[in-house]
Amino acid sequence: MSGNITFTMIKPDAVKAGHIGNILAKINGAGFQIIAMKYTKLSAEKAGEFYAVHKERPFYGELVEFMSSGPIVAAVLKKENAVADFRELIGATNPAEAKEGTIRALYATSIGENAVHGADSDENARIEASFHFAGTEMFE
Ligand code: ATP
Ligand code: MG
Repeated sequence: MSGNITFTMIKPDAVKAGHIGNILAKINGAGFQIIAMKYTKLSAEKAGEFYAVHKERPFYGELVEFMSSGPIVAAVLKKENAVADFRELIGATNPAEAKEGTIRALYATSIGENAVHGADSDENARIEASFHFAGTEMFE
Protein backbone atom coordinates (compact mmCIF):
# COMPACT_ATOMS: atom_id res chain seq x y z
CA MET A 1 0.00 0.00 0.00
CA SER A 2 1.22 3.54 -0.72
CA GLY A 3 2.47 5.79 2.10
CA ASN A 4 -0.33 8.24 1.43
CA ILE A 5 -2.93 6.82 3.74
CA THR A 6 -4.01 7.70 7.24
CA PHE A 7 -6.29 6.03 9.74
CA THR A 8 -9.10 7.78 11.62
CA MET A 9 -11.86 7.05 14.09
CA ILE A 10 -14.89 9.21 14.80
CA LYS A 11 -14.91 8.75 18.58
CA PRO A 12 -17.95 7.80 20.74
CA ASP A 13 -18.62 11.42 21.84
CA ALA A 14 -19.01 12.68 18.27
CA VAL A 15 -21.07 9.65 17.21
CA LYS A 16 -23.40 10.14 20.20
CA ALA A 17 -23.77 13.85 19.44
CA GLY A 18 -24.83 13.11 15.85
CA HIS A 19 -21.76 14.53 14.10
CA ILE A 20 -20.86 11.57 11.81
CA GLY A 21 -22.31 13.19 8.68
CA ASN A 22 -20.73 16.61 9.27
CA ILE A 23 -17.32 15.10 10.05
CA LEU A 24 -17.36 12.88 6.94
CA ALA A 25 -18.33 15.93 4.87
CA LYS A 26 -15.31 17.85 6.25
CA ILE A 27 -13.06 14.86 5.46
CA ASN A 28 -14.32 14.59 1.87
CA GLY A 29 -14.30 18.38 1.47
CA ALA A 30 -10.61 18.44 2.39
CA GLY A 31 -9.82 16.05 -0.46
CA PHE A 32 -9.52 12.73 1.37
CA GLN A 33 -10.81 9.61 -0.36
CA ILE A 34 -12.39 7.01 1.94
CA ILE A 35 -10.86 3.63 1.02
CA ALA A 36 -12.29 1.64 3.97
CA MET A 37 -14.97 2.41 6.54
CA LYS A 38 -17.00 0.67 9.25
CA TYR A 39 -19.45 1.50 12.04
CA THR A 40 -18.32 -0.62 14.98
CA LYS A 41 -17.69 -0.70 18.71
CA LEU A 42 -14.40 -1.43 20.48
CA SER A 43 -14.34 -3.77 23.46
CA ALA A 44 -12.33 -2.43 26.41
CA GLU A 45 -9.69 -5.01 25.51
CA LYS A 46 -9.44 -3.82 21.89
CA ALA A 47 -9.40 -0.14 22.92
CA GLY A 48 -6.61 -0.91 25.40
CA GLU A 49 -4.63 -2.68 22.71
CA PHE A 50 -5.15 0.16 20.22
CA TYR A 51 -3.90 2.80 22.68
CA ALA A 52 -1.25 0.54 24.31
CA VAL A 53 1.46 3.20 23.69
CA HIS A 54 -0.31 5.33 26.33
CA LYS A 55 -0.41 2.53 28.95
CA GLU A 56 1.80 4.39 31.43
CA ARG A 57 -0.04 7.73 31.08
CA PRO A 58 -2.37 8.81 33.90
CA PHE A 59 -5.35 9.10 31.52
CA TYR A 60 -5.02 5.58 30.04
CA GLY A 61 -7.88 4.04 32.08
CA GLU A 62 -10.20 6.92 31.26
CA LEU A 63 -9.21 6.76 27.57
CA VAL A 64 -9.93 3.03 27.31
CA GLU A 65 -13.26 3.43 29.09
CA PHE A 66 -14.26 6.32 26.83
CA MET A 67 -13.19 4.63 23.57
CA SER A 68 -15.20 1.52 24.44
CA SER A 69 -18.24 3.45 25.72
CA GLY A 70 -20.16 3.48 22.45
CA PRO A 71 -19.96 2.95 18.70
CA ILE A 72 -17.29 4.57 16.56
CA VAL A 73 -16.65 5.00 12.84
CA ALA A 74 -13.27 3.64 11.74
CA ALA A 75 -11.91 4.61 8.33
CA VAL A 76 -8.83 4.54 6.14
CA LEU A 77 -8.26 7.72 4.13
CA LYS A 78 -6.12 8.34 1.08
CA LYS A 79 -4.57 11.62 -0.02
CA GLU A 80 -1.17 13.04 -0.86
CA ASN A 81 0.56 13.74 2.49
CA ALA A 82 -2.40 12.10 4.28
CA VAL A 83 -1.03 11.84 7.83
CA ALA A 84 0.13 15.46 8.21
CA ASP A 85 -2.77 16.96 6.27
CA PHE A 86 -5.29 15.03 8.36
CA ARG A 87 -3.70 16.14 11.65
CA GLU A 88 -3.97 19.71 10.35
CA LEU A 89 -7.67 19.14 9.53
CA ILE A 90 -8.50 17.72 12.99
CA GLY A 91 -6.54 20.30 15.04
CA ALA A 92 -4.79 20.07 18.40
CA THR A 93 -5.54 17.27 20.90
CA ASN A 94 -7.03 19.83 23.28
CA PRO A 95 -9.98 21.50 21.50
CA ALA A 96 -9.31 24.71 23.44
CA GLU A 97 -6.03 24.92 21.48
CA ALA A 98 -7.40 23.70 18.13
CA LYS A 99 -7.44 26.22 15.28
CA GLU A 100 -10.78 27.64 14.21
CA GLY A 101 -12.55 25.50 11.62
CA THR A 102 -10.73 22.29 12.55
CA ILE A 103 -12.82 19.22 13.36
CA ARG A 104 -11.84 19.27 17.02
CA ALA A 105 -12.54 23.03 17.33
CA LEU A 106 -15.99 22.38 15.89
CA TYR A 107 -16.98 19.10 17.53
CA ALA A 108 -14.71 18.15 20.46
CA THR A 109 -15.76 18.92 24.02
CA SER A 110 -12.58 18.23 26.02
CA ILE A 111 -8.99 16.94 25.73
CA GLY A 112 -10.25 13.43 26.51
CA GLU A 113 -13.45 13.49 24.48
CA ASN A 114 -12.03 15.02 21.35
CA ALA A 115 -14.27 13.75 18.54
CA VAL A 116 -11.68 12.14 16.24
CA HIS A 117 -8.47 10.15 16.13
CA GLY A 118 -5.76 10.65 13.51
CA ALA A 119 -2.70 8.42 13.04
CA ASP A 120 0.59 10.16 13.82
CA SER A 121 2.94 8.53 11.25
CA ASP A 122 2.81 6.56 7.99
CA GLU A 123 3.95 3.47 9.87
CA ASN A 124 1.25 3.79 12.54
CA ALA A 125 -1.37 4.55 9.87
CA ARG A 126 -0.62 1.18 8.26
CA ILE A 127 -0.55 -0.65 11.60
CA GLU A 128 -3.85 0.95 12.70
CA ALA A 129 -5.52 0.31 9.31
CA SER A 130 -4.65 -3.40 9.56
CA PHE A 131 -5.83 -3.45 13.20
CA HIS A 132 -9.35 -2.63 11.98
CA PHE A 133 -9.52 -3.84 8.37
CA ALA A 134 -8.55 -6.87 6.33
CA GLY A 135 -6.83 -6.15 3.00
CA THR A 136 -10.02 -7.30 1.26
CA GLU A 137 -12.00 -4.52 3.00
CA MET A 138 -9.96 -1.66 1.48
CA PHE A 139 -10.81 -0.36 -1.99
CA GLU A 140 -8.72 2.33 -3.68
P1 ATP B 1 -5.33 10.64 18.85
O1 ATP B 1 -4.18 9.66 18.99
O2 ATP B 1 -6.62 10.13 19.46
O3 ATP B 1 -5.51 11.12 17.45
P2 ATP B 1 -3.61 12.77 19.64
O4 ATP B 1 -2.60 12.09 18.77
O5 ATP B 1 -3.95 14.18 19.30
O6 ATP B 1 -4.97 11.97 19.67
P3 ATP B 1 -2.39 11.54 21.91
O7 ATP B 1 -1.31 12.18 22.71
O8 ATP B 1 -2.04 10.43 20.98
O9 ATP B 1 -3.18 12.70 21.15
O10 ATP B 1 -3.48 11.03 22.96
C1 ATP B 1 -4.43 10.04 22.59
C2 ATP B 1 -5.78 10.38 23.17
O11 ATP B 1 -5.70 10.28 24.59
C3 ATP B 1 -6.26 11.81 22.92
O12 ATP B 1 -6.86 12.00 21.68
C4 ATP B 1 -7.24 11.99 24.05
O13 ATP B 1 -8.49 11.34 23.73
C5 ATP B 1 -6.57 11.24 25.18
N1 ATP B 1 -5.76 12.18 25.98
C6 ATP B 1 -4.58 12.72 25.66
N2 ATP B 1 -4.12 13.54 26.62
C7 ATP B 1 -5.07 13.51 27.59
C8 ATP B 1 -5.21 14.13 28.87
N3 ATP B 1 -4.28 14.96 29.33
N4 ATP B 1 -6.32 13.87 29.59
C9 ATP B 1 -7.28 13.02 29.13
N5 ATP B 1 -7.20 12.39 27.93
C10 ATP B 1 -6.13 12.63 27.18
MG1 MG C 1 -2.13 10.02 18.95
